[in-house]
Formats: sequence, structure tokens, C-alpha cells
Amino acid sequence: MAAPADRFARSRALHAQAADVLAGGVSTAFRAFERPVPLTLRSARGARLVDADGNELVDFVCGMGPIILGHGHEGVVAAVTEAAGRLQQAGAQSEAEVALALELRAAMPSMERLRFGLSGSEAVHGALRTARAATGRALVVKFAGHYHGWLDPILTATSHLPPAVPETGGQQPSALADVVALEWNDPAMLERLFAERGDEVAAVIAEAYPCNAGVIPAAPGFLERLRGLCDAHGAVLVFDEVITGFRVGLGGAQAMLGVQPDLTVVAKALGNGFPISAFGGRAAVMDEVATNRAMHAGTYNGGGISIAAAQATIGALATDPAIYRRLAGHAERLRTGLEQLGARHGHRLVTAGTGGVFFAWFRDEGGVATFRDHLASDLVRYARFAALMLEEGVRLIPAGRWYLNAAHGEAEVDAALAAADRALPRLAR
Ligand code: PMP
Repeated sequence: MAAPADRFARSRALHAQAADVLAGGVSTAFRAFERPVPLTLRSARGARLVDADGNELVDFVCGMGPIILGHGHEGVVAAVTEAAGRLQQAGAQSEAEVALALELRAAMPSMERLRFGLSGSEAVHGALRTARAATGRALVVKFAGHYHGWLDPILTATSHLPPAVPETGGQQPSALADVVALEWNDPAMLERLFAERGDEVAAVIAEAYPCNAGVIPAAPGFLERLRGLCDAHGAVLVFDEVITGFRVGLGGAQAMLGVQPDLTVVAKALGNGFPISAFGGRAAVMDEVATNRAMHAGTYNGGGISIAAAQATIGALATDPAIYRRLAGHAERLRTGLEQLGARHGHRLVTAGTGGVFFAWFRDEGGVATFRDHLASDLVRYARFAALMLEEGVRLIPAGRWYLNAAHGEAEVDAALAAADRALPRLAR
């Protein structure tokens, strides 16, 4: 094996080359943050990756969330291959599309009527437009730290507390003129907003089980209060289940938590890595879309490979409920092991999450109950930890989130904990 310093030599060279033609050497901003270098990958199978240098890596990035059954899942690949050769881009409906919609509704009954798209960002856009059309109101309420895609009307700085401010250059502050950001798990702030502006609220959008800036579950009663306030004021409650849909369970966070939204957005795990998203919900609200009062479109929506991938994915998840128990067991072993190793090596680690997705933070004391707690954690040390883990053969998201898939076994859990046992002593504070 090459010396550690050279382990990613080819990825380094390829990244430098890429930067000459791909802006920043990547195709999405988040990939640029990987250290020691944004990796170039050669192949992926199950829960393992091979990079351009030939390193075999245990993968907890899972394509940033979509990979739920494992990379290159045979059933999904076979379904996609068949569909690609038969009918990919028709500009018409397919029977499989309707069958998938029925399967999706069976898994998430709150999605009485729905539409398919390709990415989470555009499905969020569809849901918010639909909510505004249905209510005739403008105001969208979101929560600081919750991510709902990269589009101007909902992107707010994920590293800031309220108010809602633009995240990026080129985003007009006016795009957020009708967006308010509140603090998650702050019922008093929520009550105040509704008391003052309740009749202006078109929608409240939330990651029902927030995963992006920390896995920070709703405090007891918070989601129920949110549901009650939306009902009392005629606002549309939107659950962004782009991460949690089909990952925390077949019924998503809404089934896990027992609170039903008016509209739901799903993507990622729905297609095990193939591009597909959907938004939908109460028939009365989705009537805006059905009648085209709220326009929703997209050339590639309902394309053959997307639909086939999602059918195969839901099919595999629905026929093997043990998958979710296995994900939960592996997540539990990883979380406990990481916390113990952190304590042993003088780097206090705390974790939160469920099967399929969890989060790990370095904190000198306490847990993470709010977005403020998340921001006050040592996020920089965590990114350095992720870089050391990569050198030890384990690929993590530098921000702190871990994704599991059905192909992770005891061997991968053991490998990850052994890597952490080697990486933590090398980690500077
Ligand atoms: N909502 C949530 C909760 C997400 O995590 C993401 C992506 N990380 C999005 C929306 C946007 O999805 P996409 O990247 O597919 O546009």
C-alpha cells in the first residue's frame, strides 16, 4: 500500500485537472468540502467504494442519502436496464408511473394525490407554489438549519440563526421577502409568529425529523403544536422528507412520529440513487396542481428509468421489513461504539439519530437539542476527523451525518469502529 500521504495522489491530480473544466472541480457545492481532497470514484458496490487510486473504502455517504439498498443493487439495476431499453422518455404517461404512485400512496397515505419530479429542490418548489396557490397567501415559515434545496425562494443561510438571510451570492434578498425563519424546538417563537401573522401564513415547511444541520428531533409536543397552529390558521404544513422518506421507514418520518402533514416532499432514497422526487398530499390542496391553477412541469418527470428504479426500490423495501431493523441495529452499534471510542481517546462524541441516518458531534459537554447546540459543537474538528477516517478507509460526510444502507454488515460496522480507534488518537483538538 502507498504511504498515507500518497494514498489519494490520483484523486488529487484528477481534481486539479477537473478544476480546469468543471467549476471548482465538482458538479455540486457540497462535494468540494471533502478532505484531504474531493475524491474521484471508480466504482461502488453494496457498502463499499473504490476510488481512482484503487483504495477500497467503506461508504457512509451513500450518495448523500439516496443509496438505501446498497450501490449497484441487482434488482434496481435489472429494472432500470429493462426500462431503459423499452421506454425511457415518452412525453406521456406510463402504466408503471401510475403503479408507482399507488405504491407511494400506500406507503405514505397522506400523499392522496402527487406529482413526480427529479430532484428534491424542484419538488420543494412545487409544494410551496401549491401551498401558496391553495391559500392565496404569500408567507412561508421555515426553521433555521433546515435545508430545502438550493433554489432562491427557500435557501436560507444554514449556518445562521433567524432571521432568514440569503445563503449565497446571486440570491436576491427579495427572494426571501416572504420567508420567515424560526428556531426549531422553540414553541414560544412559533406561537408568537402565528399570533402576529397567522392569517398571512401560506405554508410552514420543516424537516419533520431534521437531518441536515444536525439530527435534532422535535421536542415532545412541538410537531403536534405546529400541526395544531397550521390547522387553526388555515396554513399548509409541508414535511420535507427528502432525506427521511424510505430511509427512516417505509412511511417516513410522518409514520415514525405520528404527525400527518398536508403536503410531503420525497426524493433521495425513493430511487436508490436514480433521479426521482415527488410532492403531494391532501387532494383538496393538490387540486391546485390537478387543475393547473398551480403550474408544475418538467420534461423528464415520470421518465422510465426513474420510475423503474423507484418501483424496484420500494418493492425491495416493502418485501423485506428486516432491512429497517438491520439499519437500526447497525446504527446503534456504530453510535455506541463511536461514543465509547471518543471517551477513550479524549474526544467526547455525542450522537443522535435512528436507523438509516444519524449524526455525530464533538462537544465538551451536553447533547444537541437545538440548532444553537449544533452550531456550538466543534464542527471543524469533526471535518478533520472525517479526513482522518478517509485515510483509514472509511468515507464520511464531513458535516457529521452518517447514512447507512442495507448492504452494510457487521464487517463494515467493525471496520468503521476500528478506523475510528486509529483516527481519534491522531486527531488534534
Ligand atoms: N430537502 C432536504 C431535506 C434535503 O436534504 C435536500 C438535499 N440534501 C433537498 C431538499 C434538496 O434535494 P436535491 O439535492 O435533490 O435538490
